[in-house]
Amino acid sequence: MDELSLFTLALGIAKPWRVVDLKFSKEEGRLDLWLDFLKGAKFPCPSCDETGEGEIHDTQDRTWRHLNFFQYETYLHARVPRVRCGKCGVKQVEVPWARPGSGFTLLFELLVLSLCREMSVAAVSELTSEHANRLWRILKHYVERARREVDLRAFHQLGIDEFSIRKGHVYMTSFSDLEASRVVFLGEGRKKGVVKSFVSDLISRDIDPAQIDVVCCDMWDPYLNGIGNHLAEAAVVFDRFHVMNLLNKALEAVRRDEQRENRILKKSRFLWLKNPKNLTENQEARLETLKRLDLRTARAYQIKLALARFWEIRNPLQAVAYLKSWFFWATHSRLEPVIQAARTIKRYWKGVINFLDARVTNGTVEGLNSKIKTAMKRAYGFKQVIYLRTIVYLVAGRLNFSYPR
Ligand SMILES: [Zn+2]
Repeated sequence: MDELSLFTLALGIAKPWRVVDLKFSKEEGRLDLWLDFLKGAKFPCPSCDETGEGEIHDTQDRTWRHLNFFQYETYLHARVPRVRCGKCGVKQVEVPWARPGSGFTLLFELLVLSLCREMSVAAVSELTSEHANRLWRILKHYVERARREVDLRAFHQLGIDEFSIRKGHVYMTSFSDLEASRVVFLGEGRKKGVVKSFVSDLISRDIDPAQIDVVCCDMWDPYLNGIGNHLAEAAVVFDRFHVMNLLNKALEAVRRDEQRENRILKKSRFLWLKNPKNLTENQEARLETLKRLDLRTARAYQIKLALARFWEIRNPLQAVAYLKSWFFWATHSRLEPVIQAARTIKRYWKGVINFLDARVTNGTVEGLNSKIKTAMKRAYGFKQVIYLRTIVYLVAGRLNFSYPR
């Protein structure tokens, strides 16, 4: 077998295409392969799939970046025929190694997709010596296509979350399928209109918004208003993650205030906020010592731990009774931030209680949040909304990318 046939085989290219020439340049660090079609080959019309009379109108020279051959950048070249179709006119035929209009082969694009799932686009750009904008275009194409193929028919539990970009100056809202643990939609801002944009996206994907029966979100009125307007049939649930967040904020406010008069609290922030299970032995010992002192922070901490127990109670009646006594304790704590947090919980009481029926998995909400944070790091330096969307769907959308034909 000669060199050219070997390359034809290695590239997985079938008749009528074959490799007809190659040039390897050590100095330029690149390998160029020229492909051509056999004389007399017939191509179907790309628009209607009809094989014409085999009439090739003309050809156009095209180049595609392919996977590197060892350290050498590899390019494919071909004259691509345009066929004349009785129905559609003159059309460029599709080649089996690249999608129409792309300057890369399918295998190269697949490599870019796999890399961008694991590292930042900037790093992939450096690795492949391709301009980041070209890589973003590849990602956007495949992500949009895969997103259209996601099956949302079993989407019943919606999670809504906000996150900020550009140091908190711009907000985005994520809408997730909590059971499938996937981000379904990313909206701009955190006003009530963002809920409407999510619902419009659902409808455009042939999903009836009424199939969503549980919405899990933060105690944030614009979202609640949006849900009331556009997802009126769903039960609102305030999940453990968001409610505990409220208490953690109150606890930190108490600590920050107290540390001004009591230096023993300096640098103890994480001891109080972390899950006790995740503390090291040293941290645990220090926390034990602090807890024994007569500190306002220690009291706030006990109230926080007491609230966490609410979610462990299996019997709904007992759970409600427990929450009521917790509320009494918290509002009589004489700790202003804790009292405010307890009042917020009272204001949204129904949603907190709804959790008992819905039993939304807390881990999912936290897991998705951390995935979104990872995605944002991957998009570092490219903060346009379109880039963020693409990368969040790629990292947290559980998309399936079909292998090129
Ligand atoms: Zn046609």
